[in-house]
Amino acid sequence: MHIHEAGAMHGDFASLRPGWLGVPDDVNALLPRLWANNVARSDDGVVRLGGLSVADLAEEFGTPAYVLDEDDFRARCRAWAEAFDGADVFYAAKAFCSKAVLRAAVEEGLNVDVCTAGELAVALAAGIEPYRLGYHGNNKSPAELRQAIELRVGRIVADSYTEIERIASIGAELGIRPHVMVRVNVGVEAHTHEYIATAHEDQKFGFSLADGDAYEAAGRVAASEHMYLAGLHSHIGSQIFDTSAFEVSAARLVRLFARLQEEIDEPMADLDLGGGFGMPYTSQDDPQPPVDIAASLGKIVQTECAAAGIGAPRLSIEPGRTLIGPAVFTLYEVGTVKPVKLSAGASRLYVSVDGGMSDNIRPALYDASYSATVASRSSEAAPALARVVGKHCEAGDIVVKDEFLPADVAPGDLLAVPGTGAYCRSMGSNYNHVPRPPVVAVRGGQARVILARETVDDLLRLDVG
Ligand SMILES: *Cc1c(COP(=O)(O)O)cnc(C)c1O
Repeated sequence: MHIHEAGAMHGDFASLRPGWLGVPDDVNALLPRLWANNVARSDDGVVRLGGLSVADLAEEFGTPAYVLDEDDFRARCRAWAEAFDGADVFYAAKAFCSKAVLRAAVEEGLNVDVCTAGELAVALAAGIEPYRLGYHGNNKSPAELRQAIELRVGRIVADSYTEIERIASIGAELGIRPHVMVRVNVGVEAHTHEYIATAHEDQKFGFSLADGDAYEAAGRVAASEHMYLAGLHSHIGSQIFDTSAFEVSAARLVRLFARLQEEIDEPMADLDLGGGFGMPYTSQDDPQPPVDIAASLGKIVQTECAAAGIGAPRLSIEPGRTLIGPAVFTLYEVGTVKPVKLSAGASRLYVSVDGGMSDNIRPALYDASYSATVASRSSEAAPALARVVGKHCEAGDIVVKDEFLPADVAPGDLLAVPGTGAYCRSMGSNYNHVPRPPVVAVRGGQARVILARETVDDLLRLDVG
């Protein structure tokens, strides 16, 4: 391929860039599906959200900062709720959990999934009625279960025989009969475009379908006078683009559902297919719209139920990343820029920003890909193959592994990374004693902090000597 002149740098991009990453015609262009609805680059070259420039946001709130397009998040919630009309959509709070966001999800018609006392506390502080909550997790403590039962949360998803016994004894003691779903390990592990369907899936969650444990567990819950069996639950993976894995898991779940319906006295109502619907992080990812996903999941369940000779149960799903992920970008300031020569004629531009693996661990943890743009201006410079890295003392402290940025990217530029709403702030750490960034929400052209920036004083307060 042609070798671009990029200032003083020569980029033998062909040998360094991953195959999916094309050299952009316009390094300033924003690929719409990677960015929240109300983000655009205006004529002056500056990226704006709801009319607010990133420069103004950075000046008012500092960097790094997570910037949430709240109108976009709400629109996504509505789109999923409408597409799954007649089913229940639970926002998976673990993706990103704050009062304002949980409240917004509920206002747009969703329920909320939590999996710890901490997430539950946020939901309660947000004023969410406990009946709208699902409670998951493979190791809920007796205290957590007691609180969930006392509050009468909508559903508790039991993950082990130990939990079933605990729920029964707490329910008996309190005189409350909670709604319990049984988490089924369906033997399907799905990720992106591939899935593995086996009898046994070697992981910690749920009761094995193949071993008969799921059947046994559901039978025990149904037989207990201290619990209602509300239904069956599964969750097969993350960042799934292809509904064929759901087809396999739904078929297996429906067969168990049908068998149990015949044998138990009080029939179950719910079938929960979990979350994991894919979102776009880079140009490689192009998810289906929720209406299409709803149509294919509905059809799969209907077909299986017809084959099993039962009526269709009430469906629920638990999207997390697809709702909040694309609604957020992280705004950083560039600190240093360093070309690193790798081979004859090939160099990579290392662009260091003022955050890193403490605000986005996913590249280090999952080898996740992201994209980025210089947001505070447009540039006439040629595209240069860049790697955006953080300020932490780790070579693996990578924010965006491969991206084309303008070759004149310089200290002081603001850099925006889209798609950081899910599992970034919620998995954030204080590594190197870097305080966690704030979350700034923009709604109707107005910006406000919904999660404050952590300070060094916050960190020192815990260090009691
Ligand atoms: C993580 C998780 C989800 C959400 O997954 P996403 O990939 O964010 O959609 C839903 N349900 C359960 C049980 C989970 O563990």
